[in-house]
Amino acid sequence: MNPCDDTTFTLGSKAQAIIDLDGKVISPAYTRGYPLVIDRALGARVWDPDGHEFLDFCAGIAVNSTGHCHPKVVEAICEQAHRFLHMSGTDFYYDVMAKLADRLAKSAPGMAAKRVSFGNSGAEAVEGALKLARYATGRPYIISFYRSFHGRTYGAMSVTASKALQKSRFAPLLPAVVHAHYPYHYRDVFRSDNIYMAGQRCLDYLQSHVLKCAVPANEVAAFLVEPIQGEGGYVVPPASFLTGLQALARDIGALVIADEVQSGIGRTGKLWASQWFRGFEPDMIASAKGLASGLPLGALIARADVMTWPPGTHASTFGGNPLACAAALATLELMDAELTQNALQVGKHLMRSLTALGKTSPHLAQVRGLGLMIGLEIVADKTSRRSDPLLREAVVNRCFELGLLVLGCGESSIRLSPPLTITPEDADKAVSILAQALADVSRA
Ligand code: PLP
Repeated sequence: MNPCDDTTFTLGSKAQAIIDLDGKVISPAYTRGYPLVIDRALGARVWDPDGHEFLDFCAGIAVNSTGHCHPKVVEAICEQAHRFLHMSGTDFYYDVMAKLADRLAKSAPGMAAKRVSFGNSGAEAVEGALKLARYATGRPYIISFYRSFHGRTYGAMSVTASKALQKSRFAPLLPAVVHAHYPYHYRDVFRSDNIYMAGQRCLDYLQSHVLKCAVPANEVAAFLVEPIQGEGGYVVPPASFLTGLQALARDIGALVIADEVQSGIGRTGKLWASQWFRGFEPDMIASAKGLASGLPLGALIARADVMTWPPGTHASTFGGNPLACAAALATLELMDAELTQNALQVGKHLMRSLTALGKTSPHLAQVRGLGLMIGLEIVADKTSRRSDPLLREAVVNRCFELGLLVLGCGESSIRLSPPLTITPEDADKAVSILAQALADVSRA
């Protein structure tokens, strides 16, 4: 049964029972917007235990890159499961970990040789990057950006500047962390006329204020930047901002870390979002989410002449788990074969349809993104351009009732991050549900 057929969605009893149990025992810190209970999933379809079918345009927060349960990924996991489940790559050797590191090292932008350190999550990849930046440079400061999200562990939380609530009552945080401005398409802090100008002003401010008044330039270990901001609103900066940041870093002897946890692994139509920005060659890339199609895996890819820390300085028991590595190798093969290209093509198709929808909907003020990393800016009305987080929530919830899974991001945006296997027909279906949801909340 597709909830799209119903005008009002009623949660089934089986889903309700799971939500009731969950409510008694699961940490209350989780943010559940709408009551999706997943029973099984395949490709871009998800079913709840009462038989409702949903089209998945969030992919477990941009994780199920190859779709749910891709047969090649499942086969690779099963094959590995019959060989061995764990042996800790920190102390022993095995083929899938070395092969995956080789594949990732060769894929990262720039000619310099790379090395890889594995963890289990995005936050862990970021933690590794922060530690390595300080180790390699002998400098303390990390400069990251407003509205960025890097994870929930202490280091990753400290460099995050997405929502103040995420740090509420957790201080003291990591010292020597400073935030700078990131260029915005829509709500630029400098009120610039366009995104290129915004990028330039952010760089100017960094030099004229941050590095002049707040942080000694020769004590900056690294700039940590999302090539496309994820949680902050699916915001694409101009190439000149990223290459300018890189030039500044090289000038002051600092490193550039690209957090590609959300934007990487084919999501934008290239393996790394960094590759969209000509000349941008970060010294380190943090990867996770889509890397192993749903198994927990984080990877820190760094220039070999930067990753020189000696034995014992950094590792993780489960990091580079063989099942996750096997899944990642299968994922990367699928990316090469067709999925990155599919993300590019279906992404363009989606952007066109959504842009057309924006012309008729009074609440869809901007469509932005690359490949299948697409952000929709929801506003109260296009004249005032006032952001409307409640309206955004209403649209997200109505999409769920109509059978489409999406998530919010930024102050008042919706993110579309479907599996990269998505077809143009499913893209059309998603756009028609979004159109219906926008119309329904407008009338309400
Ligand atoms: N970095 C970015 C850009 C992210 O979007 C996220 C998660 O949303 C993280 C890091 C943290 O990843 P994880 O939740 O796997 O720790």
